[in-house]
Amino acid sequence: MKERRYDLYGNVKCRFCLEENEDDDHMIYCQQLSNKWTIVADNTVCKCNQIIKNFLLQEKHIQLSQEDTQQLLSWNNNFFANTTAVDLNMPIPYVHLMIKSFFPKGKYKELKTIVKSKRIALTIAALFLEVFVSEFYNIIWQPRCKAVAEWEHTKGIKKQDLRKRPLAYQRIAYNQILTIQTEEGTFDLEKRKILKHNEQWSIALEKTKQYIN
Ligand SMILES: [Zn+2]
Repeated sequence: MKERRYDLYGNVKCRFCLEENEDDDHMIYCQQLSNKWTIVADNTVCKCNQIIKNFLLQEKHIQLSQEDTQQLLSWNNNFFANTTAVDLNMPIPYVHLMIKSFFPKGKYKELKTIVKSKRIALTIAALFLEVFVSEFYNIIWQPRCKAVAEWEHTKGIKKQDLRKRPLAYQRIAYNQILTIQTEEGTFDLEKRKILKHNEQWSIALEKTKQYIN
């Protein structure tokens, strides 16, 4: 039985290019996905431009100068533009980190220098990563899972066989734990995602009030 399953999955090719064997890295380097990665990057930057503007409007106690605000928006707009010291074979910079929900350290440093606050930098980083992961999920991950399922269907692979599928095909549920590594340590951004940023602020303000009274 095991041998039969090996026949089914043994030399499985990527469902997009039908040339390369699929492993975790191939999703980054697949020629057929490079346009989709560019769309993921463009959508992320475009959506985050609005999200950052809304964030600054909502959080009135954040006092960024006109110049800092402009710098913050251009930090966002050029997020994927700077390709120095980046693997040129990758479709977009930092994809190998962000696909695992890691926020690039250098980008975080730039961000913190602009906003001059760890709390604001972490919140913006969490928002950015969340948008990226969601775009990746919709544009690349879900179509990939659909293509694999269709392929399994045409091969007549039944439900009871699915447990035996190779590792690369098992991870249908995408793990979304947002993490950021900074010089101060590693932060789990998941909790920040659950607490909306304005809720975080009111909690912080409550704590401050205690000290005032
Ligand atoms: Zn491929």
